[in-house]
Amino acid sequence: MKILCAGPTSIDKSVMDKMGESKTNPDLDPNYEAFHRNVEKKISKLSNTDSTSFIMLGEAILGLEASICSLMQKGERVLVIYNGFFGRGFSDYVEGYGGIAYKYKDDFHRGINLESLKEFLEKDSDFSIATLVHCETPSGITNDIESICNLLKSYNILTVVDAVSSIGGEYIDFDKFGIDVLIGGSQKCISAPVGSTLITISETAKEKIKNRNTKVPSYYLNFENYYDFKGAPFCYTFNENLIYALDRALDLVLDHDYVEVHKKYATITREIFTKCGFELFAEDSFSNTVTAIKTPAEITSSQLLRALMEKDIIISKGVGNTSETLFRIGHMGKNIDTENFKELYLAIDEIFKELNVKNKGSLYEEFLKY
Ligand SMILES: *Cc1c(COP(=O)(O)O)cnc(C)c1O
Repeated sequence: MKILCAGPTSIDKSVMDKMGESKTNPDLDPNYEAFHRNVEKKISKLSNTDSTSFIMLGEAILGLEASICSLMQKGERVLVIYNGFFGRGFSDYVEGYGGIAYKYKDDFHRGINLESLKEFLEKDSDFSIATLVHCETPSGITNDIESICNLLKSYNILTVVDAVSSIGGEYIDFDKFGIDVLIGGSQKCISAPVGSTLITISETAKEKIKNRNTKVPSYYLNFENYYDFKGAPFCYTFNENLIYALDRALDLVLDHDYVEVHKKYATITREIFTKCGFELFAEDSFSNTVTAIKTPAEITSSQLLRALMEKDIIISKGVGNTSETLFRIGHMGKNIDTENFKELYLAIDEIFKELNVKNKGSLYEEFLKY
């Protein structure tokens, strides 16, 4: 199967091979701890920082929920800044743990507007935490987290950033961007198996957790148990196989200029669809890891996905109310492979022809020009 969807992405064979290795007992072998700490350092490298990183065993949503569970106390006001599906989702965690979510909504077709946010904060900045998303995967929009987080920091608001679909694909500087908690996933640009959440945390965020006057209402979700566990190296038994795979996948990412590669394929993807008369969902702030394209009126996204699946190719459709009106290509991590793209475009050309979709020219021919 050729995987070109917005995650989980293709996994390199050497990563899967690592997953099959069983070497030791992660709780008892001190060499395992040293290895694990080194993997954590590699995670910090992805956002160019020396700040603490750690791994939680679970899909990336675990990290989003855990950030609120660990940092926020009941009754705190949290600024939930959103211009897409995942951004809005933070309000569920805030309300679930008894906080007050102020839902700051922006245009879903554009990056978060800094000037409007500035005007808003001049009137109301009584927030201890703000949440936002780096890349809104459902719409293919990457927000300018550097400007936004630095603005929030100027009001002493802690910043929690969902970078699940951008880490390992977009340039991130944790300290310079003013990020307090960065949440990454293993199954998007890093191209490791699903099942681990990657967290990077600032000293300011650690202080906030330390100074809580109520206990974190969870053991499994308490960040402190991951970076400051007393009495044992880890707060539970790690899945060594998953961490070996993650380690190998991180090496593959860090060994090349992944920012440039993602930028290049994102640009090509946008250009060829636009040249062939298709419309993108985003109007600005285009993501370098995923592109959302409007599904031609003659067909539904499900029709396109089904037809591609018959040709052994997987892409994504839209999410929520755009489910049948958008289709998405994840030019993420190990999905990026020229042969894969050629097969995809050849297949889409054929399917559109069969389904009588009117478009100007061949995606495949346009792709070959690069
Ligand atoms: C993928 C993703 C997540 C995790 O969600 P799953 O769909 O369960 O993998 C969270 N945030 C963003 C922005 C994502 O792209």
